[in-house]
Amino acid sequence: MFNIIEKFLSIDGEGPSSGELATFIRFQGCNLRCSWCDTTYSWDKESTSEMLTAEEIYNYIKENGATNVTLTGGEPLIQDNIDKLLYILNSDDSLIIHIETNGTVDIEPFKKRHKRTNISYIVDFKLPSSNMTNKMNLNNLKVVENNDVYKFVVGSNKDLQMAYELISQYALTSKCLVYLSPVSGNIDMEEIVEFMKDTKLNKVRLQAQLHKIIWDKNARGV
Ligand code: SF4
Repeated sequence: MFNIIEKFLSIDGEGPSSGELATFIRFQGCNLRCSWCDTTYSWDKESTSEMLTAEEIYNYIKENGATNVTLTGGEPLIQDNIDKLLYILNSDDSLIIHIETNGTVDIEPFKKRHKRTNISYIVDFKLPSSNMTNKMNLNNLKVVENNDVYKFVVGSNKDLQMAYELISQYALTSKCLVYLSPVSGNIDMEEIVEFMKDTKLNKVRLQAQLHKIIWDKNARGV
């Protein structure tokens, strides 16, 4: 059984299918405490709204009719028995699965167990303003592939500098999609654009979070 905080049908607010319909499954529990976390409710066991089996989650996804599925949290990859759900989802070629993972869990074993390419990993790198940088799994910078995304969550100029160094050091733009995602309220998007211009940061995308433009910043289930 999985602790599910919320599940809903909406548009994908970020990522490769941004703006398209997607079913969201948000798991309870996170092994990080980012300074600017906008989903602190996912930390709290009291927030769990329902316990669902892998089959029930799959059925909910199919009933919704959206082909995009986003598994998020919290942290999806620390859930007990997450492989059982991934086996089911990986075997349905009509679905496109995005796993939003916080960067602490090595994705390589998951890639080996779930080989079909309908699963993509959207891997965060938590930069210094999060206070969580030392928890990042650096192997992920090596094993991402062309249907994956590295998402650098930037809240300061120091964060931008570190993102730039990592993108260069690991030649990330030749391996996967690379996004710069601003921490809402901490950094101006203009500052990010100026940084991209100054550093000639090609093949990196500034990503605005659509759901925060469409709905209230603190709205849930959208
Ligand atoms: S990883 Fe995500 S859910 Fe966990 S503390 Fe950081 S922002 Fe919040």
